[in-house]
Amino acid sequence: QIIVIGSSNTDMVVKAAQLPGPGETVLGGTFLMNSGGKGANQAMAAQRLQTGGGQVVFIAKVGNDVFGREAIQAFEKAGLDTRFILQDRQAPSGVALIGVDDEGENSIMVAPGANANLSAGEVSDALGEMPDAEWVMLQLEIPLDTVKSAIAECTRKGLKVVLNPAPAQRLDDEFLKNIHLIIPNETEAELLTGISITDTNTVREAASILHKKGVENVVITLGAKGAFLYNATTDLLVLAPMVEAIDTTAAGDVFCGALVVALSEGKSLADGAAFACQAAALSVARMGAQPSIPSREEVETAMG
Ligand code: ADP
Repeated sequence: QIIVIGSSNTDMVVKAAQLPGPGETVLGGTFLMNSGGKGANQAMAAQRLQTGGGQVVFIAKVGNDVFGREAIQAFEKAGLDTRFILQDRQAPSGVALIGVDDEGENSIMVAPGANANLSAGEVSDALGEMPDAEWVMLQLEIPLDTVKSAIAECTRKGLKVVLNPAPAQRLDDEFLKNIHLIIPNETEAELLTGISITDTNTVREAASILHKKGVENVVITLGAKGAFLYNATTDLLVLAPMVEAIDTTAAGDVFCGALVVALSEGKSLADGAAFACQAAALSVARMGAQPSIPSREEVETAMG
C-alpha cells in the first residue's frame, strides 16, 4: 500500500502567449480550474497508474470551503482513500495561480492556506491507523516539522520513505538519513548539494553527494532530458521520450507517482524510471495538473 502525505491546492491556470513580467498584463489567455498541489497530484498519479484495485491513501488538509469539498469529491471519484483528509476550521483551501506560456513554461504563486496547518500530531494519528502500508511519499508543501516527524515515524515503522524535496529549499542533513528514495529536479538537487548541474558529470556528482548523506536511491529529474539514477549499483541516465510540451505543470508529480507505483510492484529502479519518464512525457503533452495524468494503459501502450 502507498501513502501520500502532502498538499492539496486548487489550481487556477491561465494559458497565454507569454508569462507577464512585474507590472505587466498579458491579454488573450484561456482559463482552466482544477485540483492540484504536489501531494494531491502525486496521490492521483499513483492511484491512476497502479493496477490491482488498491487504494492510495492521501493524508492532507483542506479548508471548509467549496474548493476543499470539490477536491475531496475529485479524489473520491478517482478512487483515493480520503478518510484522512482533514478540514481546517479557519484557513481556506490552498490555491495556486498558474501561468503557462506557448512553450509550456510555467510560473506559479501558491497561497498554502490549510496546507500550512497540517500538524505532525495529525499526521501521526492518521499513520497510527495504517498498519499495513509499505511506501510513503512526501513533498515540502506542508510544514517542514510535519514532514520531518512523519519521516522519522515512518522509518521507525519500517515503511520505505520517498521524498520529493519540492518546492526547492535547503534541508539539514538529518532529513536525508532515513530516506529510501529522493526525487529532486535540477534546481532542488543544486540547492541540496551546492553542485551546479550542467552535464552528466555534475548530475552524477550531485547524486553521489545525496547518496553519501544517507539516501539509498537518488533520482534527479532533468526535464526534457529525462532522469539520472544513482544507488550502490546503478549510475544511469534514462532518456525522456520526445514529446511536444503543452504544459509541464505536474510533470515531476506524475514522475514521482509513477516511480513509486513501479517500485511498489517490485520493478528495478531503471525499469521504474523508464515507466515514470513515459508517464511524465504523456502528461507534458496535455494541459492541467491532475487532468493530464495518463492511465496505466496509455503508458504501457506508449512503451510498446
Ligand atoms: P519538475 O516538473 O518537478 O520541475 P522536471 O522538469 O525535471 O521536474 O520534469 C520531471 C520529469 O518529467 C522529467 O524527468 C521527464 O521525465 C518529464 N518531462 C519534463 N519535461 C519534459 C519534456 N519537455 N519532454 C518529455 N518529458 C518531460
